Amino acid sequence: MTGSSDAFVLFGASGDLAAKKIFSALAKLEATGSLPDRLLGVAKSGWNVDQLRDRIRDSLKAQAADLDPLVVDALCRKFDYLDGDYRDEATFQALAAKLQKIASPLFYLAIPPSLFGSVADRLQRNHLTKNARLIVEKPFGHDLASAIELNRTLLRIVSEDRLFRIDHYLGKDPVLNLVYFRFANSFLEPVWNNRYVDHIQITMAEQFGVADRASFYDEVGAIRDVVQNHLLHTLSILAMEPPINASAQANREEKTKILKAIPPLGDNRMVRGQYQGYLEEKGVRPHSTTETFVALQTSIETWRWSGVPVFIRAGKCLASTATEIMVQFKRPPVSITHEPFPPGANYIRFRLGPDRVEIGLGARAKRPGPTMVGQPIELVVMRNQAGEEEPYELLLGDAIRGDQALFASQEAVEAAWRIVDPALNQDSPIYEYGVGSMGPAEAAGLIVQNGGWHDPLGPRTESPDAHP
Ligand code: NDP
Repeated sequence: MTGSSDAFVLFGASGDLAAKKIFSALAKLEATGSLPDRLLGVAKSGWNVDQLRDRIRDSLKAQAADLDPLVVDALCRKFDYLDGDYRDEATFQALAAKLQKIASPLFYLAIPPSLFGSVADRLQRNHLTKNARLIVEKPFGHDLASAIELNRTLLRIVSEDRLFRIDHYLGKDPVLNLVYFRFANSFLEPVWNNRYVDHIQITMAEQFGVADRASFYDEVGAIRDVVQNHLLHTLSILAMEPPINASAQANREEKTKILKAIPPLGDNRMVRGQYQGYLEEKGVRPHSTTETFVALQTSIETWRWSGVPVFIRAGKCLASTATEIMVQFKRPPVSITHEPFPPGANYIRFRLGPDRVEIGLGARAKRPGPTMVGQPIELVVMRNQAGEEEPYELLLGDAIRGDQALFASQEAVEAAWRIVDPALNQDSPIYEYGVGSMGPAEAAGLIVQNGGWHDPLGPRTESPDAHP
């Protein structure tokens, strides 16, 4: 199917995600003339269309979105509303009646994941899926078996080219910049391999705890919450071969190849942690062994990367909130001075936010003076304030036009679950760590031979030129 969808149907119109992200993304798309004329919200709140429109206006106000009031009016006018339970066949019959003149609708399932399959099924039973596109929110499954099953269910209803699995992280600007920086600069290519790279580190640190998401988080843990999706996909972008062209398919194929080359986790190269006080959080099960921190070592078994250790670390209640990637280069083979060159001096550092986006190049330079003694320096290649813009505008606009480049494919989702699956229910020890630390001390042991973890700095308080 090609061309833009002629209606946008939002299941979950009364939900939290709609209020926080979706309406403001739609308003921005309306401002650029990128929305179809028919928009329809579905929920079971007992609302009428005016209440939905009030909800849209209230959400946009709460987001303090800088929007032209005429655009907001136009968005609200386009929106129709259908009230009904998703477990009730009558809801879908009423929907079919509303969509009679629509040729190719886009259905967005911003609803609890347990309902994805049954809603898609009822759409099909009511002959609504013939030319439809379907967006499903994350999480896509909770382990390998459930992801395979969900794919099987959905792909019976729409083909892969019409199924859009959202991982909003893939649409974030700093992540897109990673792809751009890699393939827009030919100087990287000669050193981007196991001859020159010593190891790769990825850290996603959060200073905050589980807050009001405790009962959700306790079922999930750090591996499912961020490693399976965000961090493995980030790694695939960092490590993939150049796509043969700019098409969505070429991009997705290269990312998937990397995920397929990462062996399943579950050996002893993993440390799980839990912050002190987690068990007292409201909503956490007594004696829960859910990890709020994980550090692991893996590898990418391709010609380019075999032999390069990859270290991934993610956690809550850590010392700072920052996501950074370090591609650490090998030391020069021989020192030309009397000082041994220390490890870790040559690197490329990508900071993916949240406060700022940076690319830094680590090097050594001679200190001024008569002796041949050096010091570490960092050349900042790029530094931007992180934008406030949310990826939903980009992703929903792409889905309306049918561009799948930033959506996870069936193969990629299943490959990523295959990597983490053995580690999910493993009874590996869980180490307590202090709030404000960088996780349990045991995590340091994983990487000690490669020079240790690089801890990202928190939000900058000094002048912007004072980094490293
Ligand atoms: P909410 O629980 O806030 O909203 C769920 C929506 O689904 C509501 O509109 C609710 O309607 C509707 N709904 C639930 N059951 C039924 C039913 N049987 N019939 C009709 N409507 C029903 O969830 P969120 O908005 O937080 O999350 C939606 C999806 O987005 C989930 O997949 C989640 O994982 C994902 N997501 C959410 C994020 C967030 O920040 N909230 C972030 C990333 C992903 P009603 O209100 O009328 O009951």
